Amino acid sequence: MAVMVTGGAGYIGSHAVKRLLEEGETVVAVDNLFRGHAEAIDALGAVKPGTLHFSETDINDKAAIVDLMTRHSVDTVMHFAALAYVGESVTEPLRYYRNNAAGALSLIEACDEVGIQKLVFSSTCATYGEPPKVPMAEDTPQSPINPYGWSKLHVEHILKDYAEACRVAGKPFAYAALRYFNVAGSDPETLIGEDHEPETHLIPVILEAALGTRDKIMIFGTDYDTPDGTCIRDYIHVCDLIDAHVTVMNALKPGDERFYNLGIGKGYSVREIIESVKRVTGKEFTVEEADRRPGDPAQLFADPTKINTELNWSASFTDIDEIVRTAYRWFESHPNGYTG
Ligand code: UDP
Repeated sequence: MAVMVTGGAGYIGSHAVKRLLEEGETVVAVDNLFRGHAEAIDALGAVKPGTLHFSETDINDKAAIVDLMTRHSVDTVMHFAALAYVGESVTEPLRYYRNNAAGALSLIEACDEVGIQKLVFSSTCATYGEPPKVPMAEDTPQSPINPYGWSKLHVEHILKDYAEACRVAGKPFAYAALRYFNVAGSDPETLIGEDHEPETHLIPVILEAALGTRDKIMIFGTDYDTPDGTCIRDYIHVCDLIDAHVTVMNALKPGDERFYNLGIGKGYSVREIIESVKRVTGKEFTVEEADRRPGDPAQLFADPTKINTELNWSASFTDIDEIVRTAYRWFESHPNGYTG
């Protein structure tokens, strides 16, 4: 049996591939390489004891996905392939609905054709929109405020209806929707890492400023209703995030439908992240205060109680400096990403 990892050449998907290979799994990584990196797949080829098969395939190509699933006896899918820029989703919503919603629908149709038994879906706290309160548990109303969040919520709904139809038909299907908070850090061995073009995420942007590949960092908004006036987010290490995926995948039993928020349960402000990067790198850099970025809620952090009590899972990286340190190691050793 094998695990298909969609988006396997991307930041989060590649960390999933590495972990599954280390667990001895046969992994079928698929990626259209639009934002994924062939270099990540090359690096992952050496990870043992599992076996890696890679195919440059788009998840919208149902026939190709069915063929891969059949040839490699795939029984489980981890679905990461998606576009993930909130701002871009506002200016290009159709692209987000095509890639994230229609792409997932096509993938789920392929799963149905082949009889896939487990699917772990990469969802997001963006499905909650502006939360009425923090920390956020899984029963927070889901009311997205941008097309990215909607595109992911649509997939949660498709999975819910499909799982119910499977239950009625007696088909052994189970799924989990994992709602990520801010994913950060990189593989501590720096075999793979975070390489986005364009890069807009806070920790990589600050590290680029610290390393001198960017002239300054802008704080988007200093007048939020938070202790230091800047936005608060919950940063979960990518390896912890993947550890949670493996835990959930192993726990899924036929007929299961699970939802978990993935965060560490503690929020850090933009200023606190800047201070952490200064401590970790020992470097000074220019910080400028700028206007708020449209669509940014003041505070987002998870209540991780559900996964903790149901699956006895919690994040192992709880110190922000440790998370930033793994990201720093990657950016220091790969100042130009995978190309250098
Ligand atoms: N942020 C910032 N400057 C930057 C990038 C991000 O002040 O150059 C802030 C952003 O406004 C948000 C937080 O950092 O409050 C995290 O942003 P990021 O884009 O990393 O993740 P998001 O929470 O939007 O998914």
